[in-house]
Amino acid sequence: MPLANKVALVTGAGSGIGRAVALSYAEAGARVVVSDIAERGGNETVEQILSAGGDALFVRADTSLADDNEALADAAMQNYGALHVACNNAGIGGAAATVGECAPQEWDRVIAVNLSGVFYGMRYQIPAMLKSGGGSIVNMASILAQVGFREHAPYVAAKHGLIGLTRTAGLEYASRGIRVNTVGPAFIRTPLLDDLPPRAFEALAALHPMGRIGEANEVAELVLWLSSDRASFATGAYYPVDGGYLAQ
Ligand code: NAD
Repeated sequence: MPLANKVALVTGAGSGIGRAVALSYAEAGARVVVSDIAERGGNETVEQILSAGGDALFVRADTSLADDNEALADAAMQNYGALHVACNNAGIGGAAATVGECAPQEWDRVIAVNLSGVFYGMRYQIPAMLKSGGGSIVNMASILAQVGFREHAPYVAAKHGLIGLTRTAGLEYASRGIRVNTVGPAFIRTPLLDDLPPRAFEALAALHPMGRIGEANEVAELVLWLSSDRASFATGAYYPVDGGYLAQ
């Protein structure tokens, strides 16, 4: 099993892609710290892992708060004695508005979760991984880390920022046993897209050369590979998983 004897943590693991990643980590043999701001969803993910015979526990954390991220890394060390794998996945969409109309508070809110939250995560995961003999971090970006998207400037800017953050951390820890990568899903069927009217949903699907949006488990496959020792020479990089979206 690719993650046998590993301890992993996943943020935003109470729903969508984060849940799929947590389930795949557990299936791959890891003990999983499932974290989310939403207790109900997080506990449901833990129950799914336990009923499949895996090992997991829930820790509530708001990733936009540095202290919560510190407590989360500590929880992995205290409960499971190590931290080897982290997927910084928690993210929010944000309200639609052009740059000339976007409320400054909305900018701050989206940047706090989608960019600062990932920095805070790595800030405390890295010291824990150094104590654990090394590890692998996967940050959840988007195709919108590479191209613009109208009316979503805070989201697009935060996801672009994750590439620089990932490259820098990848450089800093390449010789110290920690790999850091980022993945870029195109549009994926999760509750994040629940509010879209059917017509907008179809229009989104048509943007992908494959003619469909993706599934959460198709992202989890890539995250699992990057998280495991099978990706032993991969660091500081961005990996799209996008049905051909960025090839256009
Ligand atoms: P989702 O809404 O289904 O799940 C996100 C989870 O994050 C939720 O459980 C939510 O409670 C949690 N969360 C939100 N704010 C949080 C916070 N401050 N602290 C901790 N947890 C918090 O969304 P998803 O589609 O699974 O998205 C997961 C990640 O994938 C996000 O970073 C998103 O930007 C990215 N992504 C999604 C898509 C897509 O089309 N669904 C595409 C590309 C990238």
